[in-house]
This record gives sequence, structure tokens and C-alpha cells, in this order.
Amino acid sequence: MKKTAHYSIGRPLQKWGETEKQAWLRVQKTKRSYEKDVLVNIEQLRADFDIQQYEELTYDSKTYPLMMLATKDPSDNKPTVLITGGVHGYETSGVHGAIHFLKTHGKEYQTYFQFLVAPCVSPWSYETINRWNPDTIDPNRSFYPDSPAAECSSLMQAVFSKTQSVLAHFDLHETTDSDEDEFRPARAARDGEVFEKQEIPDGFYLVADTSNYNPAFQKAMIDAVQKITHIAPSDAQGNIIDVPIEQPGVILYDKQKYKLCAGFCQPTYSTTTEVYPDSPNINDEICIKAQVTAVKAGLDFILAT
Ligand SMILES: [Zn+2]
Repeated sequence: MKKTAHYSIGRPLQKWGETEKQAWLRVQKTKRSYEKDVLVNIEQLRADFDIQQYEELTYDSKTYPLMMLATKDPSDNKPTVLITGGVHGYETSGVHGAIHFLKTHGKEYQTYFQFLVAPCVSPWSYETINRWNPDTIDPNRSFYPDSPAAECSSLMQAVFSKTQSVLAHFDLHETTDSDEDEFRPARAARDGEVFEKQEIPDGFYLVADTSNYNPAFQKAMIDAVQKITHIAPSDAQGNIIDVPIEQPGVILYDKQKYKLCAGFCQPTYSTTTEVYPDSPNINDEICIKAQVTAVKAGLDFILAT
């Protein structure tokens, strides 16, 4: 493995303390607007969905309302589908894919399902284009009781206040070149470890859960998305992000062990989508379309079985 120069904060092989975490936070800047990009778009769905604020986070005296869209008049007869985006706030198409799915298909699928949709779980990270929250915590490793990440604890509480039974959970993510350039080096520095480079997969892939792996469900989504964008090939070792593939474009994680968002409510069906936005063959619109297509194909599979 190729080793690279040390991250700009902290000392090599020494875990960060509060001083280094504060130094990291000081250099983070707001780069886009949660209100203009996200809240305005959520508001446009008010005719068809209940829009609920489930928490408000305050960071550095700025407040971020956390929003969930829910099916109006929920029925016990319809199974619940949870869609989450922006657990990693920098992964743009996850946020806009969740909103766009509701705009384009939400109404029709409410015939069969009731939805809970949290399009932007980590709004501070959306605005500052970050993976961590301001406390240098990765929300997608922090979905467990008494989580130190308010983004996670408030979402879990919001979902469990509505239902204990989620049929399907789609957690919409991206894998980006900045994972290698910034976020993984920062993590290694924070944890006092040597950064070892990893290959960024060129294309879309899915992370399924070992606890509910349904190969045909995952395949249905891959088959649909490959009409929109290319699927990530495995590397020379047969891996995607150092994990052996189970089938083309699909790897498995133990999502409860790693405290991932898509594992917290133990659904019957779940997947984590990973769009690759940095390919020369893709643009913002295709990234969003890939997210929407994955959700739609997953729901169609469930309806057909
Ligand atoms: Zn992610």
C-alpha cells in the first residue's frame, strides 16, 4: 500500500485530543446553504406529505432544523419505508435523490407504502461539505443507543416514535474522490493511524447487510441503475473498497456491528446506495437519477414478491 504525507492537523501516530479537534473545526467553512438547497425543496412537497421538524441542532450559534417527510394519515396496513439522505452531508445526490424520489414517485408509491423520509440527516455537514459532524464524529458509524452524534440519536428517536417495524430502508450515499484526498486521511490522523490509500470504485455500487442479505433485491437495483450509470467493477483482488463482492456491484457489511444508519431499525430489506459523482461520464442530474432509480427498483421488487 502506498503511504502518503501526514494530514495537516495533529502529529503523526498521535490520536487527536480536544485541541486538534478544535483546530479542525476552525478551518471548516460554510460552502452552501441548507436552507436554500434543501429546506425550500422540502417545503414544495407539503401538499402530499406531512413535513415535521424532529429536532433542531445548534452549532456555533447557527440552528439547523432536522426535517422528516411522512405519509399523511398513516395506515397500519401499509408497511413503512424509510429513506435517508445526507447522513454524510457532503454526499449531495443522497440528499437531493431522497427529495427527488418523493417529488417524482412518492405519491404513486403511497398506494402501497407509508414513507418516512429524512433527506438531510447532517445539515451542518451538508453546508460545510463534510463527512464528520462538528465534533469529528462520523454519523454513519454512530447509530446506537446514547449515540454521541445528535444527528443519529435524534433520527433514531424520530423513527422509533412512529414505528417499531420498518419493512425497507434505503440509505442514500456517495463514494467520492474526496474520500481519499481528505476524509480518510483526516480519519487516520484523528485516530493516530497511518493512512493507507484505497482505490475509489469507478461507478455505482450497493452495500447490503449481512443480517438481511437478499441477493435478488440487490440485483434488481443494480440491474435498473446500470441503465442510468455504470456499475463499479471490482478491483484486481475482486474487491470494492477492500471488501469482496458478493455479486456485480454489491458488497456486504455487518451494519449493526459497524453502527451504520441502514442497520439501526433492523428492516427486512435494506441497502446503502453509493453513487460515484466524480466520473467524467456522470453529472449531478445522473447522480440524482441513479439514487431515485435504485429506490424505485427496490420498491418494485418488494411489490412483485
Ligand atoms: Zn456516505
